[in-house]
Amino acid sequence: MKTAIIGAGIAGIASAIRLAAKGHDVTVFEANDYPGGKLSAFSVNGYRFDAGPSLFTMPQYVDELFALCGESAPDHFRYERMDTVCHYFWNDATQLRAWANPTDFARASEEALGVPAAAVTQFLQRSSTKYDLAGRTFLEKSLHKAATWLQWSVAKAMVVLPFYDMFSTMHQTHQRHFKGFPKMVQLFNRFATYNGSNPYKAPGMLTIIPHFEHNIGVFYPEGGMHAITTSLYELSLRQGVKYHFSTPINEILTKNNAVTGVKTAAGAEFAFDKVVSNMDVFYTYKKLLPHAQHPERILNQPKSTSALIFYWGIKKEFAELGLHNILFADDYEREFTLLEQGQVTHDPTIYINITSKYTPTDVPESGGENWFVMVNAPCHQGQDWSTLIPEIRKNTLEKISRILKTDLEPLIEAEEILEPREIERRTSSHLGALYGYSSNNLMAAFLRHPNFSGKIKGLHFVGGSVHPGGGIPLCLLSAKIMSENL
Ligand SMILES: Cc1cc2nc3c(=O)[nH]c(=O)nc-3n(C[C@H](O)[C@H](O)[C@H](O)COP(=O)(O)OP(=O)(O)OC[C@H]3O[C@@H](n4cnc5c(N)ncnc54)[C@H](O)[C@@H]3O)c2cc1C
Repeated sequence: MKTAIIGAGIAGIASAIRLAAKGHDVTVFEANDYPGGKLSAFSVNGYRFDAGPSLFTMPQYVDELFALCGESAPDHFRYERMDTVCHYFWNDATQLRAWANPTDFARASEEALGVPAAAVTQFLQRSSTKYDLAGRTFLEKSLHKAATWLQWSVAKAMVVLPFYDMFSTMHQTHQRHFKGFPKMVQLFNRFATYNGSNPYKAPGMLTIIPHFEHNIGVFYPEGGMHAITTSLYELSLRQGVKYHFSTPINEILTKNNAVTGVKTAAGAEFAFDKVVSNMDVFYTYKKLLPHAQHPERILNQPKSTSALIFYWGIKKEFAELGLHNILFADDYEREFTLLEQGQVTHDPTIYINITSKYTPTDVPESGGENWFVMVNAPCHQGQDWSTLIPEIRKNTLEKISRILKTDLEPLIEAEEILEPREIERRTSSHLGALYGYSSNNLMAAFLRHPNFSGKIKGLHFVGGSVHPGGGIPLCLLSAKIMSENL
């Protein structure tokens, strides 16, 4: 079976490994001259940066790929569980170190925010139960195959779902549980941004996400996040997968409603029995299948947020910061309302990730820290980014300087900026969305495109814009679901 994969994002590489392990003759076509898509890295003035994802959860989905090929993951890919999930900061000088261990986290929450420790442990326990009863089913299986709905675990999930905050938003769920503790509500609301959603709209079922961080853990790969890409890319090469880099595909060739191959931008045609698209599903239809029938309702669902990222080489070390840090906005609801209107608040929530806390060689020998500073931003809808970026940069610098009581700007000795238009240009992600489609309505899980086409035989889909959604673990699961049903 000859199979083409369009795109060497993490889902494309995982698909290549899975299909090669099933005996397919796999060729990957990638527009860039490097693998990994959003999961890439770069260096500037001696500072190394992971360009995209910084938070790594559910490492078992990476390990599984090595096991599938009869290899031992630790021989090629190692990671460590972090004892601290995140350092949280509020404008009024409140700080909270969120330990991974649920008991320690609950105790620290009580000390910093006054919330009873028992309420926190109970909430995390409920998050875990929800994931085991229903969440796992919805993430690990195709929701678009009759066989799924005939399984006992799925029937059970459907029965228990209404009792697990299916009909409340995340925010309402948190309000109910942590009434009178607005900072705790805000802290748990932030988990909606795991897939670029709005906690005031996303379903309460997404309250399974803290379970990933506090019960399963947050991990950091040796060599940085980019090691996920490089180790899986090398595994795929050992499996015999062939790559064509700098080779954008312009068309998926079809005949009698079945795929026959792909055509490159340079006009070369290649015959294939199966085609797996790791390109954003919106552009797969609009650019590669312009004459096919398009599932417009699915393609026009609300997109996830995008982001503005400042990569700063900072010539100082900050003991109060850890690997992951979040500086919250005062008015979180307004921040999300503005994002939906295509704007960024003057007091944004800021994510600072510093891999040199864990890997000192990520900075020059003279020392310092490599800051990945991310502000939630709307997708590109024609905003004037040349005016917006300097404004957001100024607000971001002022906020961090105030909270850390240090004038930050003079400490920046290297800088790069990534913004929504560039995210779209580099990865063909529609409007620069980080996670494909958001979960901003109660039916979102059912309104993602399936991992196969119901209209064109031999056409399959993986990656953040299709089921089960965005983020590294779900992209890896999309490859698993696709290959199990191919
Ligand atoms: C700034 C940022 C921060 C993030 N933070 C996190 C995080 O902390 N944790 C987390 O889990 N996730 C995070 N994410 C999301 C995560 O990066 C993505 O969900 C995931 O990497 C998407 O992988 P993918 O396989 O869908 O494809 P992508 O990474 O989008 O790659 C698609 C690939 O397909 C190629 N391609 C597209 N069209 C064509 C074509 N026609 N022909 C050939 N090649 C083509 C592109 O060049 C690209 O290489 C973040 C993303 C960004 C940008």
